[in-house]
Amino acid sequence: MPQDTQTETTQQNKVLSYIKNLGFSDAQIVDKGSNYVVDGDIVFSKTMEVPADNGKSITEQYYNGYIVTNSRNIRVKIDPSITSMTSEINGAINQWNTVPNSRLRFVITTGTVYDILIKVDNTIGSSTCGQAYLSTSNGLAGNTVWINQALIQNNSAAQRQRTIAHEFGHTISFKHTNQSTTTNVPGVGGTDAQSLMNGGQCGSGATVLSTKDKQATAALYPL
Ligand SMILES: [Zn+2]
Repeated sequence: MPQDTQTETTQQNKVLSYIKNLGFSDAQIVDKGSNYVVDGDIVFSKTMEVPADNGKSITEQYYNGYIVTNSRNIRVKIDPSITSMTSEINGAINQWNTVPNSRLRFVITTGTVYDILIKVDNTIGSSTCGQAYLSTSNGLAGNTVWINQALIQNNSAAQRQRTIAHEFGHTISFKHTNQSTTTNVPGVGGTDAQSLMNGGQCGSGATVLSTKDKQATAALYPL
């Protein structure tokens, strides 16, 4: 095969290996062209830089191990495509920003410099309400949240806000609380039916961060 194709395949295999080391199974990984979409809505670019530890040092599988460095000032830019959901975006951000004993703060910016772009993409899947990148090994928030506006626009405002809050949770390292291989954020054990970070519950899941969601946030992003 041509060398550039070979290089691309090797890179993709590295990303696949990394995803599996994070605790995901083959059955949870879907090839979507330039990305792998995992466990429904967690996106990994095929061209991502795989961390030097390849995920092997990560033992807490409820989050991906990578804390966002500028957690006191995570700048969110609202793409023009989704300004109609500004109220839900603000509500979602307010939930994360008001977690007791946590320094975590998302801030809306209209500038050209930002950490996360939230935008509409109605092509991400007929039952996928949103998608997001996880935080990165160099301390950056996942830089894109995609919202399937066509799919969620008829949900209640609380459920629309839930989808957005859930996807923001991925950008700051949270994985799915109900992932089959889940272990826990240190000190926050057990399953949690009330978790806003449970996967596969768009339109039906918890609309506010649970007590354990808040404890986990304070554990990862303490004051
Ligand atoms: Zn999710």
